[in-house]
Amino acid sequence: MELVAGKKAVILGLGISGGAAVHYLRKRGLRVAVSEYRFADQLNQQEREFCQGVDLETGGHTEEFILQADYVVPSPGVPLDLAVLRVARDNNIPILGELALAAGEFPVPVIAVTGSNGKTTVTALIGEIARSSGYHPFVGGNIGTPLLSYLLSPEGYDLAVLELSSFQLELSGGFRPDVALLLNLSPDHLDRHGDMAAYARAKGRIMHNQQADDTAILGADDPMVMELAKDRLSRIRTFGYGADSQARIIESKVEVRQENRESFELAGTALDSKVNRLNAAAAVLAAQSIGMDNAGIRAGLAGFTPPEHRMTLVSEHGGVKFINDSKATNVGAMAAALESCPSGVILLAGGRNKGGDFTTVKELVREKVRSIICIGEAADLLYNTFADVARVEKVADMAAAVKRAASSAKVGQTVLLAPGCASFDMFTGYAERGKVFTDLVLALPERKELKRKTDD
Ligand code: ADP
Repeated sequence: MELVAGKKAVILGLGISGGAAVHYLRKRGLRVAVSEYRFADQLNQQEREFCQGVDLETGGHTEEFILQADYVVPSPGVPLDLAVLRVARDNNIPILGELALAAGEFPVPVIAVTGSNGKTTVTALIGEIARSSGYHPFVGGNIGTPLLSYLLSPEGYDLAVLELSSFQLELSGGFRPDVALLLNLSPDHLDRHGDMAAYARAKGRIMHNQQADDTAILGADDPMVMELAKDRLSRIRTFGYGADSQARIIESKVEVRQENRESFELAGTALDSKVNRLNAAAAVLAAQSIGMDNAGIRAGLAGFTPPEHRMTLVSEHGGVKFINDSKATNVGAMAAALESCPSGVILLAGGRNKGGDFTTVKELVREKVRSIICIGEAADLLYNTFADVARVEKVADMAAAVKRAASSAKVGQTVLLAPGCASFDMFTGYAERGKVFTDLVLALPERKELKRKTDD
């Protein structure tokens, strides 16, 4: 977006991204003001530093403050139905997200990754492959370093690999990545987007401005993803288990069917699971689109360690596997986690529902789950949804859930934390939830009685 120096931008919402926006917009010669919902004494030290010398409104967003703006820049977490944003729209003040600000400013090729699940894994994997291929990639966006912090000092990088959320994409303006990945779509964040169509539209914006020399990499097993690609100009590459995909998963291999067929073996790597094979296929196509060679790709696949709290095996305690998939914060990820487990699962679920429809996993629960132990705000919803297909119990907290699961699990069964919900009703985030679960599991007393059973 052409920003005119000397004009005034009002940033809505601080946090790390809002802070990066303050620096970025100042560097581009704009006058900057910040409107923050929290009160001044609730800001942390870093946020106070971001705002030094900046015109700051706290404790809410006022119409008067917004109306001084030539541009309004909402941070990614800010809901777009805020009254002050309506005021901005009514007054024809452009509303620009981080991606709109960044559009046209990238000094290096951009690979952008979105989808309902697998974004962090695929973004990190492409980063690993790029490093193995001799690149120096910036890896960030929705994770780690904010996009605008990267643009403030892009020196030393020769590629940008960006994880993008639907919130960021809603206001992506003229953003045009060289390679766009749309992995899959399942209901998520419907509490904010309203309905699935609006959520899918936001995700589809990743390829909205692409031209014929740009590449879109799509999860072909997902009809909704393919539907979004209709009428797009991008060069389409597909991956999946289905026979039509250009990168097809056959057993533990990714077979790429292009001019010269190539096969990438995943057995023996950390990517040999049902969903990670898909993630690997997507990353292979992305790497090839940028021109990375197959040896570098193989080295990257082999050296990759998946990020924590995603199907992480915590322990095999007395013959029972304890798996931490705390990052399964929506129904689609919960389903993927269950699909990866043998039947006899004791599922720990619940938290803050994000508008997901749990009836879509009922059949899978019937097939795979022995009992569900529920915590958090969604406990009643889960109870009502699943009580006729599994034994469902509600408990007060994670400690009670782990204790109950450990005492009821039998040898050969799996205790799976895949909550299908956000964590914010009880934890600071999925990482804290996963850590609490992990610590509780590691502190479980010896399971002698089970050991005896195994030995028998
Ligand atoms: P995101 O960044 O999109 O949330 P992550 O890589 O952090 O994705 O994984 C989130 C959750 O989704 C985890 O529970 C993980 O096991 C699961 N998952 C990872 N990849 C996929 C995939 N391709 N399809 C479905 N679920 C996946």
